[in-house]
Amino acid sequence: MAVYCTTWTFYGSVGRAAVSGIGFLPVYLGPTLVMALGWFILLKMIRIVKANRITSIADFISSRYGKSHLLGGLVTIIAVIGIVPYIALQLKAVSSTVGLLLSYPEIVMPHRSPTMSVAADISFYIALILAAFTIVFGTRHLDATERHEGMVAAIALESVVKLVAFIAVGIFVTYGLYGGFGDIFEHLATHPELQRLATAIPSGQGYTGWFSLIVLSALAVLFLPRQFQVAIVENVNESHLRRAAWLFPLYLLLINVFVLPIAIGGLMHFSGQGVDADTFVLTLPMSQRQEGLALLVFIGGLSAGTGMVIVETIALSTMVCNDLVMPLLLRHRGLALSEAKDLSGLLLGIRRGAIILILLLGYCYFRLAGEAYALVAIGLISFSAVAQFAPAIIGGMYWRGGTRGGALAGLLAGFVVWGYTLLLPSFAKSGWLPGDFLTQGLFGIELLRPLQLFGLTGIDEISHCLFWSLLANVGAYVGVSLLRPPMVAEATQATVFVDALRETGPIGAVLWRGRAKVSDLQELVGRFLGPARAEAAFAGYVRRHGGRQGDKPEADARLVQFAESLLAGAIGSASARVMVASVAKEEPLSIEEVMHILDEASQLRTYSRELERKSRELTAATLELREANERLQELDRVKDDIMSSVTHELRTPLTSIRAFSELLRDDPKMHLADRERFLGLIVSEAERLTRLINQTLDLAKIESGRADWNACELDLKEVIEQSVAATSQLFREKEAHVDLDLPDNLPQIMGDRDRLIQVMLNLLSNAAKFLPPGSGRVRVVLSLLADGLQVSVTDNGPGIRPQDQELIFEKFRQVGDTMTAKPSGTGLGLPISRRIVEHLGGRLWVESVPGEGATFLFSLPFAPQHEPAVG
Ligand code: ADP
Repeated sequence: MAVYCTTWTFYGSVGRAAVSGIGFLPVYLGPTLVMALGWFILLKMIRIVKANRITSIADFISSRYGKSHLLGGLVTIIAVIGIVPYIALQLKAVSSTVGLLLSYPEIVMPHRSPTMSVAADISFYIALILAAFTIVFGTRHLDATERHEGMVAAIALESVVKLVAFIAVGIFVTYGLYGGFGDIFEHLATHPELQRLATAIPSGQGYTGWFSLIVLSALAVLFLPRQFQVAIVENVNESHLRRAAWLFPLYLLLINVFVLPIAIGGLMHFSGQGVDADTFVLTLPMSQRQEGLALLVFIGGLSAGTGMVIVETIALSTMVCNDLVMPLLLRHRGLALSEAKDLSGLLLGIRRGAIILILLLGYCYFRLAGEAYALVAIGLISFSAVAQFAPAIIGGMYWRGGTRGGALAGLLAGFVVWGYTLLLPSFAKSGWLPGDFLTQGLFGIELLRPLQLFGLTGIDEISHCLFWSLLANVGAYVGVSLLRPPMVAEATQATVFVDALRETGPIGAVLWRGRAKVSDLQELVGRFLGPARAEAAFAGYVRRHGGRQGDKPEADARLVQFAESLLAGAIGSASARVMVASVAKEEPLSIEEVMHILDEASQLRTYSRELERKSRELTAATLELREANERLQELDRVKDDIMSSVTHELRTPLTSIRAFSELLRDDPKMHLADRERFLGLIVSEAERLTRLINQTLDLAKIESGRADWNACELDLKEVIEQSVAATSQLFREKEAHVDLDLPDNLPQIMGDRDRLIQVMLNLLSNAAKFLPPGSGRVRVVLSLLADGLQVSVTDNGPGIRPQDQELIFEKFRQVGDTMTAKPSGTGLGLPISRRIVEHLGGRLWVESVPGEGATFLFSLPFAPQHEPAVG
């Protein structure tokens, strides 16, 4: 895509910067905006071009509006007339740089005498050499899809060369001649005559100027024939667009970085010597006798020029052949053509002729008008011409109502206004036409002055032309389109183009009724592509479609469509339509039928979208169901688990209660003291039973996720103090010493107050249970971690053996030989505590050396907004 940067960029940007500072930039902002914001237009164009085997921008417009020969021809003529000055510009740049190099070591601005004979003019030979190059690259064979991968590779290489050359000069000027960017811009401040470059929006140009240049270049990067060729026709993979979306703007940025320094450097260096700013890129290294660098620059400029000329000419010659010459031949010599066996040679001949013709036209323009204009002005004339394609193309891709008449009227109106306000004045300025009509208007009517049309003044001529031409263009396009509803062919193609991004299937095939013989079709295609390629293509089609076509002599609609698209790749869609119609007996469809079919197709699309949505919903529901089922199974497992442990655990206290009750019942004369002891045991076992049942239910709730949590920010220190106070009685009974280390002002944590108290009570009461009577010591420490708080409860009891340290967190596990504690415990306290802490995002574990006591620790994360700023 960097073929966008021609000699106009390579030499002309500096020229423009020397006049208007950063006024050279908008021409690169437009493409950058298109790539960033308008890539979906490119994507849609790529889809349309691929699906319909469109070969050029003329083919694109002609195909959209019902495969119209007239429209294709008009677009071709506009493109050729519009682009010829641009080609001339490349010839001008290349030939004047050759002249400059030849004058080395002097720097003599090449002067062309208008009377110089063609045979003595080096630019004539340059044009011929370029024509030869283009023929070699572009017309080696007649590819059905018109792709030229060799050419694209060559252009890519040229793009690298010109970038490297330009950056090399930039570095040489900025860091070799001067002391870097800072130095150059300081000079700018001290040279009063350079002050004008420092203003952001130079006076002569204004905001309108900037705006129209951005619009123009945005349209140019989409619709210049060479950009259409490289970005759309030559596209082999849609994903390349994604890379182009950043790489191309980056390229533009890189090639622009040194423009201002070179311009300023040149202005200071050659001040008063009459060196053209358009040549600074070359003359600065020459003036310093940097022969190698000067040669590199020349090669870079040559790359920029030849790259543009080759791609542009290939694109234009395809248009001239398919949309101008072929239709004429078909009309006037249609019969003769249908008798010839193999026309591929003729096609190549036409294209080669067109290439030579276009380059010679470029040369003529250069000879006649080239001297009058700076590089930049010539390029803008071309940009304004291709901007005329925008309404027909963009309208055609997004508006079903656009018709052939509308497109024709719009293009014609825009083209005429462009010619009158921009092209003719350029002729007048180069002395080709009398200058009177510039100052007095056509027929002496003041309102018709081409540079102040209808009295519009105060803006530059490009903005002026853009305004009037696009106004006329869009107005005529929309106005004439609205005059009558689209006809059959237009409606069909409108659907193909507007719905290009949807999966529609081949609309064309749905809309074709008629009869055609396979052999006739193959012969027809063979005449344009060569018999061997036609046979291969048809065989490939039969293979792909599972031999449905088989050996049946009658072609079905899809095969007819396929043959037509093959032909379209070689001779353009309009001619392909005519050729296919010539071998098939077609039944014309009425507009009602077409509308009906299109309606059905769009209904079908709606149904299938609906179906897709339903099936997506179904998949989601299935997934949800499966998850719910898995969860159910898990809960079931938990329930079984608890049931079996619980029944087992409940049996022990129940057995005791029953045994003691039976003793009491069977022995009425039992001693009062024994009786009281037994009753006491029954009560305590019943209490244990209650505790067991409560805790089991609690655990089951937590495990099944049905527990209520009241999460809030809280101060852990408070929770600990409250728990210690609640258990103080237990420690007093054991005469134990409780030691607290609870720092103030620690960050808050997120937690459930009651649940955390439950955890603390469990740990403290466990500690109390295992403390040695009389000499017990318990220490509770609250400390700060990187991501939360940690609480530890240390006792000097018997400790826990390493192999038991995980077991105690399992349900109903009570370990160790401290059987003293057994009857009162349930073995559920630690499992519940661990689940609570884990639910709050923390961890609970034990550290213990048997004989030296145990430490139970748990950590909890900070509440989100209370995380300390550092560490
Ligand atoms: P419970 O205390 O109700 O028996 P827990 O789940 O709280 O149930 O404790 C399980 C087991 O862990 C206890 O039976 C005991 O064997 C052991 N254990 C708990 N805390 C300590 C401790 N501080 N020192 C020694 N062993 C302990």
